[in-house]
Amino acid sequence: MFHENDFFLTSRSLFAEWAKGQKSYLMENFYRKQRARLGVLMNGSKPEGGEWNFDKDNRLPPPKNYTWPKYLEHDRDEIDLTVAKELNYQPKKYWATTRSGALKQLDNFLKNHFANFGPYEDAVTSENWALHHSLLSPYLNNGLLHASEVISAAMKRYAKGDIPIASAEAFVRQIIGWREYVNGMYWYLGEKYRENNQLQADVNLPELFRDPSKTQMNCMKSTVEDIQERSWVHHIPRLMILSNFALIAGINPQQFLDWMREVFIDATEWVMVPNVIGMGVHADGGTMMTKPYAAGGAYISRMTTYCKGCHFDPKKRIGEDACPFTTLYWDFLDRNRESFARNHRIAQQVRGLDRLTDLDELRIRADEILNKLENGKL
Ligand SMILES: Cc1cc2nc3c(=O)[nH]c(=O)nc-3n(C[C@H](O)[C@H](O)[C@H](O)COP(=O)(O)OP(=O)(O)OC[C@H]3O[C@@H](n4cnc5c(N)ncnc54)[C@H](O)[C@@H]3O)c2cc1C
Ligand code: SF4
Repeated sequence: MFHENDFFLTSRSLFAEWAKGQKSYLMENFYRKQRARLGVLMNGSKPEGGEWNFDKDNRLPPPKNYTWPKYLEHDRDEIDLTVAKELNYQPKKYWATTRSGALKQLDNFLKNHFANFGPYEDAVTSENWALHHSLLSPYLNNGLLHASEVISAAMKRYAKGDIPIASAEAFVRQIIGWREYVNGMYWYLGEKYRENNQLQADVNLPELFRDPSKTQMNCMKSTVEDIQERSWVHHIPRLMILSNFALIAGINPQQFLDWMREVFIDATEWVMVPNVIGMGVHADGGTMMTKPYAAGGAYISRMTTYCKGCHFDPKKRIGEDACPFTTLYWDFLDRNRESFARNHRIAQQVRGLDRLTDLDELRIRADEILNKLENGKL
């Protein structure tokens, strides 16, 4: 039995009303409606700053010689220590377990991170695991914080005048846009949506997802190690490293989803299912996202610091040291050439295959990579 509650700003019926009127369920369209409906960052009927979306300003690679703010640590109380002891677990200080700890995290974000949230939102650096992300998802999802109070506090902080609009808008988009959209889509699409596997991906989840020592891919190894340490990485490692790899290697979506559900601190069914099945691995055939988020090593090399210390070369697609992401990216387009040729948003990437003079060798290297993956030696 479902009870109306204030965990979200949009009721299921209001979302369904919006969704029923859409040809494709574009988050951006939903988000603009939310901004106007909730009156967040609006000047009358116009968006604050003259634009709805400042994404173009927010795609910077990791900065060099940058001083990151100190991490906020959460001291453990008696209950934490007792529970940790019962579980035979060495307690860490990354996450709060109380309402006052969650409020401290919100305050820390607004003071030390909000102003620079936007520009480095998509960057990943081995120098700092949190960057300027808010680390609020566990508390929003378990009810220690409510979306409405997070937005009110952010808007109060923005009103002081020293938060750039690109950062304010980016954060607002996550909270009243993405979070509400994903929840709305989960309930709108129904129970069977979880079982989608429209690309017929059937590779078993490789061991490296549980044992990072099984791979020499620095990006995958570091990401899995980070998750084992604190049960969290931000949206780019989730999307462009983990999910991208699952997508282009053809890993079974349900096995990958079950693993993601298990290992993240903020994981619940409503949020993982659309993010993985729809956004991450395109297993729904494009119901949620019009094109798959597939990328080779060049993207990871630009947006992260991982490639410098890697055994593989992100520029190479064939040969012993060819980056598995780069090889599998092309192989993925090749394997799905026919179905993607009809999708104008990815057709240009697919046409890129015609320019490759080494496609036969690439197919052989892709087979080799998939075999190594299965045998736990990549
Ligand atoms: C494949 C994949 C799986 C994900 N699984 C989860 C999950 O299980 N639980 C979860 O809360 N988020 C999930 N996300 C969304 C996002 O990665 C996390 O919300 C974010 O990394 C949490 O860190 P943060 O609080 O510092 O976020 P910030 O970057 O500071 O963003 C602020 C808030 O926006 C909300 N938000 C942003 N993007 C999303 C999104 N796509 N879906 C839902 N909420 C969003 C979150 O509440 C987050 O706390 C997933 C994203 C991807 C691509
Ligand atoms: S070279 Fe490839 S495998 Fe290595 S870190 Fe870069 S993207 Fe990952």
